[in-house]
Amino acid sequence: MNTLYKSTRGGEKNIQASLAIIKGLASDGGLFVPNEIPKLDKPIEDLINLEYKDLAYEIMKLYLTDFSEEELKYCIDNAYDDKFDTREIAPLVKKNKAYYLELFHGSTIAFKDMALSILPYLMKVSAKKQNIDKEIVILTATSGDTGKAALAGFADVEGIKIIVFYPKDGVSPIQKHQMVTQKGENTYVVGIEGNFDDAQNGVKEIFNNSDFVKLMDDNGYRFSSANSINIGRLIPQIVYYFYAYTNMLRNKDIKLGEEINVVVPTGNFGNILAAYYAKNMGLPINQLICASNDNKVLYDFMNTGVYNKNREFVLTISPSMDILISSNLERLLYKISGNSESIINNLMDSLASNGEYEISDDMKKGLKSFYGNYATTDETYATIKEVYDNSRYLIDSHTAVGSCVYKKYKNDTGDTRKTVIASTASPYKFTRSVMKAIDKSYEKYDDFELIEKMNELTGVEVPNAIKDIINAEVRHKRLCGKDKMKETVRDILGIS
Ligand SMILES: *Cc1c(COP(=O)(O)O)cnc(C)c1O
Repeated sequence: MNTLYKSTRGGEKNIQASLAIIKGLASDGGLFVPNEIPKLDKPIEDLINLEYKDLAYEIMKLYLTDFSEEELKYCIDNAYDDKFDTREIAPLVKKNKAYYLELFHGSTIAFKDMALSILPYLMKVSAKKQNIDKEIVILTATSGDTGKAALAGFADVEGIKIIVFYPKDGVSPIQKHQMVTQKGENTYVVGIEGNFDDAQNGVKEIFNNSDFVKLMDDNGYRFSSANSINIGRLIPQIVYYFYAYTNMLRNKDIKLGEEINVVVPTGNFGNILAAYYAKNMGLPINQLICASNDNKVLYDFMNTGVYNKNREFVLTISPSMDILISSNLERLLYKISGNSESIINNLMDSLASNGEYEISDDMKKGLKSFYGNYATTDETYATIKEVYDNSRYLIDSHTAVGSCVYKKYKNDTGDTRKTVIASTASPYKFTRSVMKAIDKSYEKYDDFELIEKMNELTGVEVPNAIKDIINAEVRHKRLCGKDKMKETVRDILGIS
């Protein structure tokens, strides 16, 4: 079977995976989706004893049908190696009556590593397959974790430059330090005066500006994206939901075919969309529980069918989820509209001009496998403390949003199915909010001092990702206004 891709807005059709990966965003501003979500081509019991890499191959080969076995295995082998601090890659930890799927064992200790450690290889192979002779320039907007994970993945990859834009006051001090100390001659990091949505919009505008794209082309450059709008980010994320399930089967926590729930702390809707794709492929998932922080656009959307970004942008203690425009939702809308390009164009036009849209009753029915709720900042603190007190397990502030919403879900529904919570970051990345949750007296220390305190409290070893940056030299000091991103890109690339 051959899986081809098309734009959610209808402008591009029957594109091979490698081209969709190179392009990132479709030229009409839409997102690439498979013509049809492929079904698993063997029974789940056949996957039960596979290691992460072998399972990754079984899932990803169904999407990347223009990659040879050798090409895909080359990508997988180079991604999921000893950059991860455990051979399991994504361990499942049973605590406090839930299963935490730890997605933070890669080189930057957040779940973005799961996809961004493989994307550079997918892109390299794709460029070769598509005979691209231009230098690829990765433009990425980050709410904190994507930036570092993309920089780490693409640093010193031949034929590629990477430029990351982050909201200068919207990331944690450790996230910021991780980025501005990034090594690699092909890496550029820019703080913008604006929030994540400004950064993301700026990047999308650059992609959609045909004059600018042409100017780049004339100078030997071609843009691509490492954001979760790139289908090459989404596909690797499907793997770990299958991995969690086979792990539970192996441990006899569930029986074959038994349904589980999945909770995902959500921002740009990429991670939870991967779980939705897994469900559509045949993984027995009952509810997809979408957990938001105080920027609860998705909670409101799931409960009313109205998506409205016209509201105050709240800076929370889960900054990687501080997002009002969840780009990947467009892929879900497309699916639940029965693959209607015209509906998507209408909704996205309305979002662009009015900042909101409402879906039809028919489309609302497509949301029934989702449950949305949110956790306030106080509830998030309380959850970190509660989980720690009950089980001596320290979770980060994003995972805590998931954990809190799971509790609300159980109260609302009484559902007792086994539930996997996507654990999206190491607590070492957000020491200040995590330690403050445990005891207010930690408030007097800064983020970096708290690394040692956290180690003393939990005995969990400080990850190399943190040890490596503490004394590292700051290499990136560039700042720019949110309306000057294009000029900054020109400047970096030396185009007058
Ligand atoms: C990116 C991120 C999220 C949100 O994931 P989306 O795919 O954007 O929904 C949640 N938690 C952490 C720690 C992240 O880095």
